[in-house]
Amino acid sequence: MRLHALHRGSIHAVAPFAWLLMSLVVFSLAVEVRPALAASCTSKAPEQIVIALDVGHTATNVGATSARGIGEYAFNLKLAQRVRDELLGAGFRSTFLMVTELNGHSGLSQRTERANRMNADIFISIHHDGVRDKYLKPWLYEGEQRGFFDDSTGFSLHVSPRYPESLGLARIMADQLMAGGLHFTTTHEPNNPVGARVPYLDSTRGIYRRDNLVVLRHTNMPAVLLEAGVIVNRDEELLVSTPAYQAIIAAAVTEAVKKFCKPPDAPVAGTKLPSGFVYLADIDPTIRQDIRYAGLHNFVGRPVEGYLANECVLTERAARALSQVQAELAAKKLSLIVWDCYRPARAVREFLLWSRLPRDIRMKAEFFPNTNKAELFALGYLAARSAHSRGSTVDLGIVPADLSALAGYDSTASPKPCTGAKGQRFEDGTIDLGTGYDCLDPLARTGSPNVTAEARSNRTLLQQSMQGFGFKPYSREWWHFELADEPFPQQSFDFPIVARAPPPGANVKQEAAPAPPKL
Ligand SMILES: [Zn+2]
Repeated sequence: MRLHALHRGSIHAVAPFAWLLMSLVVFSLAVEVRPALAASCTSKAPEQIVIALDVGHTATNVGATSARGIGEYAFNLKLAQRVRDELLGAGFRSTFLMVTELNGHSGLSQRTERANRMNADIFISIHHDGVRDKYLKPWLYEGEQRGFFDDSTGFSLHVSPRYPESLGLARIMADQLMAGGLHFTTTHEPNNPVGARVPYLDSTRGIYRRDNLVVLRHTNMPAVLLEAGVIVNRDEELLVSTPAYQAIIAAAVTEAVKKFCKPPDAPVAGTKLPSGFVYLADIDPTIRQDIRYAGLHNFVGRPVEGYLANECVLTERAARALSQVQAELAAKKLSLIVWDCYRPARAVREFLLWSRLPRDIRMKAEFFPNTNKAELFALGYLAARSAHSRGSTVDLGIVPADLSALAGYDSTASPKPCTGAKGQRFEDGTIDLGTGYDCLDPLARTGSPNVTAEARSNRTLLQQSMQGFGFKPYSREWWHFELADEPFPQQSFDFPIVARAPPPGANVKQEAAPAPPKL
C-alpha cells in the first residue's frame, strides 16, 4: 500500500499547526527548575535502561499534513519503529514504543503518565515538522489541492529547560545528527513567523526551548522531542521516507543514548571532586545556596554547561574562610548566600558563544537593561578566563539568618530590571545591596554613589566581612570576591558540578531490571 493512501483528506480539512498549538500547549504560571540530578541511566547496564519512544500524534488526529497529503502520524510511526529496532539491536532491551490512541489533552497526559509509571530513564518523542497553515503554498498533486513550504528544511530538537539533563541529551543528539550529515532548521526562531517562534536553548545545534509542551513538562526524566524533518517541504518529504535517512536518524538517536548514559568522563552523582576541592554544604551547611547558572534565573536564561547540580563547589581553603565569615555574620543574625562558586571553564566558553549572538537578548531587561550586549566583555563583566574557574572565587550576598524560603523564579513573568529599587527588582531575599545579583550595570560598582545609603552601608558590611577572612573585593561587582591566598593561582579547572554523594549509611536502593511495563 502506498503510504499516502493512509490519509487523503484535503489540506483544508485539518489545521495541523493550529491543532498542534492548541493541544500541545498548556499554560502555567511558573516554570520551576527541578533540582538537577545526574541522569538515572548512567548507573545502569544498557538492558536496564528504560527508554520510552513516543510516537507523536495519533492515527485519528495525525498532526501536520505533508506536501503530498500524508498525515504526520504515519511518518512518526515508521521512524519510531526503525529507531526502536536500532536501540534493541544495540542492547537497549528495555526500549518501548508508545502508541497513543486518545486525542487532545488526555492523550498527551496519557503519554507522560505511561512514561512516568514505567520509570523511564529517557523519553524521546518522534515527530515530523510542518509550518503554520497560512504559509503553505497551494499546488496540485495527483489531482488534489495540497499545501507545501519548501523553504524550511532540517531537523530540530525541543526541550524544556526544567531539566538540565534534557538539554545535555539534546546536545549529544544534535551532534550525532549533524555528524550523520543532517542540518537543523531555523524555522522556529522567534523572528521567523512560519514556525513555533520560540527561543533557542542552543542556537549552534537547533535546540529550541519549549516551556509548555505537555510531553516535556510533565515527564519525570530527561525528555527530548525530535522533529526529524520537514514534511511540508516537497523534497524533504521524499527524503525522510527513505531507508537511508531513517537509518541516519536511528543511528544518531542510538549513539546519543549510548553517549548520554555512558559519557567518557561520566559526571555521575557522588563523583569525587579533584583533590583540594569540597562541597560548601559539607563544610558549612548553614550558608544559603542559590546557584543561578544551574537554573533559568541568570543572564543567559538557561542552565549553563557544566552546572549539573545546584551545589557550591570551592577549594577547601576558600570554603573554610567563608565559614568563618558566616560565623561572624551569624552573631549579627545574618547569613551569607552564594550564587556562584567554582565555575567550569566550559561554562565560560558558553558565555563567550552567547555573547556573540546579538539577537539573544531575552534576559537583557532584567540583567543588563542599560548595557549593550556587545560590550559586556569590553566592560569587564565577562572574561574569556574567569577567576571562578580557579575554585577560590565566589559571588555572594547577605540575607537575614531567619529568612525562611527563597522566592521562586517565574521565567514567564515580565522581567524586573536588576537596577530597580529594593521591592521593585526580583526579591532575592537579601538585605538591600543596591542591585540584584549579576546586574551588569554601573550601579553594581562596589563604590557606586548612586545607590541608597542603606545599600552603601550593606555593601561595606559585606566587603569588610569578606576582607576580614582573606577575600579581595572587585570594584565592578559588589558580589564578587577572590581569596587572596588561593591554592591554585595559575590553574583553570573544567570538571562538571554534579550532585553530592548521599551521606554514608544512606540506604541506596539497588535497581533491578524492570518488569516490562503494561502499555
Ligand atoms: Zn564573580
